[in-house]
Amino acid sequence: MIVGRSEIVGIRPDLAEAWDAVADSFPVHVTRSFWSRIVGSDPADPLARQVLPDPAELVPDPGDMDDPVGDVARSPVPWVVQKHPDRVLLLLTKRCHVYCRYCFRRTHDPEDGEDPSPEAWARALDYATSCGAREAILSGGDPLAVRDARLLDTIDRLRAGGIKRIRIHTRAPIVLPDRITDGLVEALARRAPVWVVVHCNHPRELSPEVDAALARLVDAGIPVMNQAVLLAGVNDDPAVLAELCEGMIDRRVKPYYLHHTDPVTGNASFRVSIERGLQIVAELKTRVSGIAMPRYIIDPPDGSGKIDVSEFARPRS
Ligand code: SF4
Repeated sequence: MIVGRSEIVGIRPDLAEAWDAVADSFPVHVTRSFWSRIVGSDPADPLARQVLPDPAELVPDPGDMDDPVGDVARSPVPWVVQKHPDRVLLLLTKRCHVYCRYCFRRTHDPEDGEDPSPEAWARALDYATSCGAREAILSGGDPLAVRDARLLDTIDRLRAGGIKRIRIHTRAPIVLPDRITDGLVEALARRAPVWVVVHCNHPRELSPEVDAALARLVDAGIPVMNQAVLLAGVNDDPAVLAELCEGMIDRRVKPYYLHHTDPVTGNASFRVSIERGLQIVAELKTRVSGIAMPRYIIDPPDGSGKIDVSEFARPRS
């Protein structure tokens, strides 16, 4: 269930007038589950900040980019991105359970529609199974925003086409834990190897319901990893990240990536400088176990794919 506009404006009265313009630039959706973890009525709460629209999103910034990770040039057919010969990324939908205000895909053209047509999807699957990739990453939007039947059919077609490994990149276990039903978990476990990569940025996102959803996946033998995004005012603090990463390990979830924020148009208030990011990560290393340490990576705008921030920041000769 989605939280209503009046409740959101109750926390952020300044949104009353700006709502239409902000929601037109990127939809507003907050699940009841995620909302219940926001503390009080503080718009600066680290969970509230991630999902509550902000009139500041409409203010241009010199660092803004519409395609900060170079996806457009690496899209051989609609709904597919390929940056490496052995991997292929499929966008199952543009819909999400929550719309995170920092999302690097927030500028996708709404004219393209929220879901691929059957013809476009057949073309995307044809490409994925004939490009030489061994691994498919199901992304979006949120690939768990589509029905189980379509998700499982996609996995089965990819397998039949020779793709061995499947990764599902989803925020659903965190923002809508009830989406991780026993039926879905069983169906994914039967299709191993399927990896699930969740997206959690702050330790307070880990509620008892989220713990149970993650446990359902892990108990079924499905490997689970977490990727977080380094976000100003949310988790740009080594103590917060340490609590998140250790919390993930305690739940048998491997911290995988800490993403440097992609500077998409509208998310300037979330950006952290590379220098500050490197300082935070150096401090984080002194606080957590080696198995709890994620890779701090950046996805550069030239579309060449993710690299370590330390390497990206190194002066080149
Ligand atoms: S769930 Fe993922 S794709 Fe959807 S808005 Fe959030 S970050 Fe973007």
